[in-house]
Parts: sequence; C-alpha cells; structure tokens
Amino acid sequence: MSTSPPPSSPPAGTHAVVYGGSTAGLIAAGVLSRHFERVTLVERDRLEDGPLLRKGVPQGAHVHGLLTPGMNVLGEVFPGFREELKAAGSHFIDFTGEHAWFMGGFWRPRIPCGLHFYAQSRPLLEWVIRQRLQALPNVRVLDGREVTGFLTSSDKARVTGVHLRVPGGGQEETLEAGLVVDASGRGSRTPQWLEALGYPRVEETHIQVDVVYASRLFRRPPGLVADWKMMSIGPKLPTERRMAVLAPIENDQMLLLLAGWHGMQPPLDDAGYIGFTRELIQPHIHEVMKHAEPLGPINVYRYSHNQRRHYERMPRFPEGLAPVGDAFCSFNPIYGQGMTTGALQARALGECLRQGLGGLAARYRQQVGQLLESPWSMATSGDLRFPEVAGQRPPAFGLMSWYTDRIQSLVGHDEEALRTFVRVMQMVESPTTLFSPRMVLKALTSKPTTAALERKPEPPFAPATAKVQAA
Ligand SMILES: Cc1cc2nc3c(=O)[nH]c(=O)nc-3n(C[C@H](O)[C@H](O)[C@H](O)COP(=O)(O)OP(=O)(O)OC[C@H]3O[C@@H](n4cnc5c(N)ncnc54)[C@H](O)[C@@H]3O)c2cc1C
Repeated sequence: MSTSPPPSSPPAGTHAVVYGGSTAGLIAAGVLSRHFERVTLVERDRLEDGPLLRKGVPQGAHVHGLLTPGMNVLGEVFPGFREELKAAGSHFIDFTGEHAWFMGGFWRPRIPCGLHFYAQSRPLLEWVIRQRLQALPNVRVLDGREVTGFLTSSDKARVTGVHLRVPGGGQEETLEAGLVVDASGRGSRTPQWLEALGYPRVEETHIQVDVVYASRLFRRPPGLVADWKMMSIGPKLPTERRMAVLAPIENDQMLLLLAGWHGMQPPLDDAGYIGFTRELIQPHIHEVMKHAEPLGPINVYRYSHNQRRHYERMPRFPEGLAPVGDAFCSFNPIYGQGMTTGALQARALGECLRQGLGGLAARYRQQVGQLLESPWSMATSGDLRFPEVAGQRPPAFGLMSWYTDRIQSLVGHDEEALRTFVRVMQMVESPTTLFSPRMVLKALTSKPTTAALERKPEPPFAPATAKVQAA
C-alpha cells in the first residue's frame, strides 16, 4: 500500500481532532495529516476490520456512487486510491457511455463522457479509505468514543479541544487540539453546543423531500449480458414519483434501489418489491430483476428534508472549529452529491490551512458557503417542484422549471448538450453553463429526433438464457 506524502513543513499546528469517522471525517483527517504533526480521528462506533455496515451510517445499505470530483480529491489525499478502489471491486462506470439512463421521457444517448460514477458498496468505499488513513504514521483512530462537547479558551473565542467518553457512559476524557473538525453528520450537535457557549444559533434552511429508499442486494443473474453496467429509471418531475437504480457492486452483486416520493413508497415484501419495478415507466429493470436472487433483507431509509446550516452567515464563530460534510449540509440523496461535496469541503479546508490557523474559521466558512451554492440549488430545485413542498420558490421559479424541462428533453437527443448537462450533474461545471446562449438556443428550438424517441437498451439476456432463467 502506498502512503501519502509527509506533512507539510512547517506544520500549521501540533494536533488536530476530527470527530466522525465516515467519508467526510476520513478524508478531512487525511487532509489534516499534511498540516498537523498529529491527527486524532474519533468515531462513536466500534470499527470492525472489514467492509461492514455499521450503526452510525444507516444509509450504508443503499447505493452510494462517488462522482468524479470526489474521486479526484481522494486521489490527491491518498495517491493511488483510484487503483486501490478498483482492485477492491469498484466498478468505474462512464456516466453516459455505460449507464442506461431513462430520464425526462427518453433513454439518453450512450456516448462516452469520461466522467465516472464509481459504484461499490458504501462499507467497501469507507473501508478502503480507512485503511489508507490508518497507514499514515501521524494519524490515530480512536473508535468506540463519542465527542460530547467542546473545550474552549476562557473567553470562549476559540475551541481548544473536545470532551469525549465511551457511548452510554464511562469516564469523560478530554483531547486538546489546535483545530477541531466536526464530521459527525446530519445530526451534528454543533449548533446546540455553540448556542450553549453564547453564540447565536446557526440559521438552517430545510427543504422537504419525503423520499423513501428501499434497497436490496442481489446476486448478478447468471447469463445477464447487458449493453450497460448501470441502469437508472428516473421520474419526470413533479408528476411521476417512482425511481429505480440498478448498480453493480463488488463480488458480482447488484444493488437495487427503489424510491418513491410524497406518499409513494416501495412495498417491503418480496412480491411487492419486485412488483414495484413492474410499475416503473420503463420495463427494463423489471426484466432483469425477475431473474435475480436476493441476498439479504430489504433495507429502508426515509429521508425527510435537505438541510443546510448557514455557518457562513454567522456574525460570530469560534476559531479552531470547522464543520465538514453532512454536518454542514445534507442533500436529497438521489443526486449522489453528498460524499463528493464532503470531499470538496475537506479539500477547501486544506487550501485555507495553507495560510495558517489565524482566521481559518472565517476563510473556511466563506469558501464552503460558496461551494455549496451549486449542489444545493441543483438538489432543491427538483424538490421545490412538488406542490406539497413548503418553502419560498426563487424568483421566476416557474420559468426556470419550464426551461429545465426543455433541457431534459434536449439532452435526450443532443450529445453536446448531454455532455454539458452531465458535467453540471457531476459538479465539474457550474449550473450557469446550462444558460449559455448556445444551450438556450438549442433548448428553445431543437426537437427530438425519431431515433431518440425509439432508443432503448438491448434486451439484457440472450433469448435462450432468458427462457432458462424464467422457467
Ligand atoms: C439513502 C442515502 C443514499 C445516499 N447515496 C449517496 C450517493 O449515492 N452518493 C453520495 O455521494 N452520497 C450519498 N448519500 C449521502 C452520503 O451518505 C452522505 O453525504 C455522507 O455519508 C456524509 O458523510 P459524513 O461523513 O458527513 O456523515 P455520516 O456519513 O452521517 O457519518 C457521521 C459519522 O459520525 C459518527 N458520529 C456521530 N456523532 C458522533 C460523535 N458525537 N462523536 C464521534 N462520532 C460521531 C457516526 O457514527 C458516523 O460514523 C446518500 C445518503 C442517503 C441517506
């Protein structure tokens, strides 16, 4: 296993603490290992030696694709990471070339775009990152401990460490640190802890989602010979409320994710679950799944709302503290942005540290506030189209929704537009590129071709095999 370069010299500080050992915390700890003499990562769960589901990450049973910018950050922090993940069984799926993708009423053109969806189980991804982190000589992972509050300077202007203990009781300990990173996820207690220290309560924006995920692991059906590696059947918002993604993961397994919005919930019994795939707007996932053998239970996750904490707006905020990942912002998972955005925040923290610890908290909060604008607007503009979702719509929201529908239709047949759209979805380009004069002209004038309307994936089984499988 290769190791990362040694910490930069001179280091920004002696000791940093990260709490929360999921993707954002692991990547942030890797970044900090280059800026501090020592880094301690504190995780509440006991961490097993292997890629296993765990209590602190209940979403881990569901499809967890990493987008290209997230992988780029991982490769910077842990050189050679891409190859290691592949060797561990990840599937690198060209987002348009190898992804059969029905959306906005069309099967999208199958052209390589060079941007990948990295598909593996979430426990495997976390395990490969954790092994790389634990190999760093200046990083210590302290599992089975939860952080219960902050140590501060006497004037409370600086966080100087954390209180921790074994969950459920036990002797309280303290850890002093020049920087504390909160990577404890969506349920982070930083807002309450800061308030108790006399800071204003951070403003939060919540946009309702009400999506229910029901996922199940299957053995890849023998004889499946498809012209795609991953298949998604997405809804036309806001009238359709069902979605499905079938993604390959390690060990010749496939993860099927079924989702429903606003009262539409995938059934949780065997027959109803597969029946839901029959009701999708396209039959192709059902054609595969009726031949597939389940390998475990149906796991459910109810995601209620997008949650953005506006730390960048706080007039006062202590030095020595930085929230990262879902602790800062948690998005509707269907866009697959969460882990990548957490990785980009960790990278931003490293960039801010190049100027040292003085003024770090303000620099970092501003940078992340800006970084979140695009993924937040992408995730929430779809949710706001459902009439039952409360919340103020941005100005000209109706016009924007109409334009989005035009774009969805355009990318069903225009390859250049599809590439641009995917670059935006993959967080490589700003959503403003969808409003360039060329895109606007195309969106307003072009019409779907017959070929686009007739495009569909090849049947997934050779006819003889399908007969055998169905018998
Ligand atoms: C159903 C679903 C599907 C998703 N699919 C995708 C996807 O395809 N692609 C994608 O990029 N994102 C996806 N996401 C989002 C992704 O799961 C999150 O963005 C990502 O896990 C956030 O990571 P995190 O490290 O910030 O927090 P979390 O993953 O929530 O982890 C928080 C960690 O902190 C620990 N912890 C909590 N409190 C304490 C404490 N006080 N002390 C010590 N440790 C503590 C927990 O045990 C846990 O390990 C999905 C989310 C859901 C719900």
